[in-house]
Amino acid sequence: MNEIFVTRPSMPPFEEYMEIVHPLFENKCITNMGEIHKSFENKLKDYLEVESLSLTVNGHLALENIINALNLSGEIITTPFTFVSTTHAIVRCGCTPVFCDIDESTFTLDVSKLETLITEKTCAIMPVHVYGNLCNMEEIEKIARKYKLYVIYDAAHAFGEKWNGKSVAQMGDASVFSFHATKVFNTIEGGCITFRDSGLQRVLADIKNFGFHDQESVLYVGGNAKMNEFQAAMGICNLRHIDHEIEKRKKVYGTYMELLSQVEGIRLWKPQEGVEHNYAYLPLVINDEYGKSRNELYIYLKEHKIYARKYFYPLTCDFECYRGKYSTENLEVARDISNRIITLPMYSDLSKEEIHYICKHI
Ligand SMILES: *Cc1c(COP(=O)(O)O)cnc(C)c1O
Repeated sequence: MNEIFVTRPSMPPFEEYMEIVHPLFENKCITNMGEIHKSFENKLKDYLEVESLSLTVNGHLALENIINALNLSGEIITTPFTFVSTTHAIVRCGCTPVFCDIDESTFTLDVSKLETLITEKTCAIMPVHVYGNLCNMEEIEKIARKYKLYVIYDAAHAFGEKWNGKSVAQMGDASVFSFHATKVFNTIEGGCITFRDSGLQRVLADIKNFGFHDQESVLYVGGNAKMNEFQAAMGICNLRHIDHEIEKRKKVYGTYMELLSQVEGIRLWKPQEGVEHNYAYLPLVINDEYGKSRNELYIYLKEHKIYARKYFYPLTCDFECYRGKYSTENLEVARDISNRIITLPMYSDLSKEEIHYICKHI
């Protein structure tokens, strides 16, 4: 068996991609919101069922840019059980992350512990749809309304998902998606922000282009987060195949379930009720009855060329750059899950043989 990595990017047929980028070699308009960028943006709005959307060079800068566009300062409540980008974005924008514990079953922000963390300095909540598990959006947004807080979802894992038939991109004040190569939908690198207030469109457009409002006026201390034409072309191609991709992932999930449902001491990922999932990740929680620890299983799989990942270990608040800087109290569930979780290889082209091989070793 060859090495099996945790994920592998989806690529469109070569000819399909070349057909779209070919004109670029003539017209030389390869970035700064060209024709392909416009076209991709419109197609994506349709797919995500939103009116307002801004493309970015990656998901991380999308997070930073929406924080800047909303002019946030003070405390942002989030969870430490995420990719470090979520916490970094908050801190790099000069805000203070306040870490909330996670829910035992979905690994998303535990709303029952949210309200006690709100202070007069709180300006926003940034929950994460971890592994594509959707947060308790109803409760989060109810609390946000009560205290007049913004809600920005880190939806990097939730591309294309629906909750009771409604696109997840419509939720909150804004949602941020990542189109990194390792995500369900990719533009090589890339990302976008979907948002409720259409007045933010121009602000986000300016901020991602150094703050330029027009050639002679700079209104914001912006950076450079523009998506280029080659990325957008990848997006157009991959979007054509996304539904099929997700179907294939669902089949991979089905095979895993068949083979692992009898194994004692592991908790398998289960779809949430009312959610159309994208099958982005396959997390496994290792309980004591399994007989091996998560770390032992991780090493054992690695010895057999199966490169699972400890997503998300360590918690972001435990990384060297954050140690001792913010309160890490009352994070029992996050800490416990972080020590027991492992994510298995999951991508659309994972073969039945490979899944059998992985499950045999589990
Ligand atoms: C991937 C990811 C990001 C960052 O997105 P990039 O496109 O890699 O910059 C942010 N948050 C989460 C939860 C992610 O998984």
